[in-house]
Amino acid sequence: MGAHISIPMYQRAVPQRYRLIGQRCRSCGKVNFPSKAVCKYCSQGTTFENVQLSGRGTIYSYTIIAGGGAPPEFAAEAHCKGSYPVAIVQLEEGPRVIAQVVNPPEEGLTIGMPVKAVFRKIYEEEGVTRYGFKFIPAI
Ligand SMILES: [Zn+2]
Repeated sequence: MGAHISIPMYQRAVPQRYRLIGQRCRSCGKVNFPSKAVCKYCSQGTTFENVQLSGRGTIYSYTIIAGGGAPPEFAAEAHCKGSYPVAIVQLEEGPRVIAQVVNPPEEGLTIGMPVKAVFRKIYEEEGVTRYGFKFIPAI
């Protein structure tokens, strides 16, 4: 089963996802991304201020998604490229996000490699092209 995200749910998430807007918890000061109703760090904070994330971070961990393991919405891409890396990126503001890494170096990714977010087409579903961020090496 794929990670289906309905059009309304997708559209609600667009402002934060497109512009990398995080939210700083007024209780503990940590940055949540994507937005949460209750702070995931202190489990108490419910008021936040928006923070523009830089998109810069480092690779915390990564894996290579091979064609057979790709979720259905990425089947076309897996068919074109064979396999592609997906990383957990530690953003410099604190949150960790999972995203695809494009243009990886020939020798492969390494833990701690600096990366930066780029805005890309992610996939198409129900006739709507969905955009979001991926990461490219920042070295
Ligand atoms: Zn908090």
